[in-house]
Amino acid sequence: MPLRSDWSARTCSLARGLDVLGDPWGSLVLREVFFGNGRFDAIKKRLEVADNVLSKRLGWLLDAGLLAQRPYVDGGRTRQEYVLTPKGEDSLPVLNAIIIWAEKHLDAPSDIAHMRVIHSDCGLPTSSADTCSHCGTQLTAANTSWHSLKRSDHPLPLAVAPSPVSAYAVSTRTAPTQAAPAAETEPAS
Ligand SMILES: [Zn+2]
Repeated sequence: MPLRSDWSARTCSLARGLDVLGDPWGSLVLREVFFGNGRFDAIKKRLEVADNVLSKRLGWLLDAGLLAQRPYVDGGRTRQEYVLTPKGEDSLPVLNAIIIWAEKHLDAPSDIAHMRVIHSDCGLPTSSADTCSHCGTQLTAANTSWHSLKRSDHPLPLAVAPSPVSAYAVSTRTAPTQAAPAAETEPAS
């Protein structure tokens, strides 16, 4: 998954990790899939991104094994949507850390330009990326919600990697599809 240049063989694991997770569009695609928003047109609508930019990131994330394709039927046609793999789900603490760091250190352009990482069981925002800073519970996609004030007035539970793994269509990868915009409903927000 080259980002500008190929960092995948660097001797530093931070550099190798950034090769996969250091691309803003790629990480925003992961954000959408964590929000359960895994269909091409819905991701495109939410990110306001060009088809070729989105297709390239979806391809990278498939090749890197963070996403898999899963078929769904849309108006009698079978299309592919994107779901997390366990490897993709494991990126959650990284994304949580970026959100928490940005909330702490970066100015927001408006009052609603905020996102909180919530431990769903206690309902409180956490200031730690991998454990709830209130109760100490290890955070997983299954017990974490993200509250994007722009997106909704309440925290949204995150998607998890479908189980069993055989539910994936990983061995039958197809090019990212570009379905008709009218085929999609507004993503859950
Ligand atoms: Zn908690």
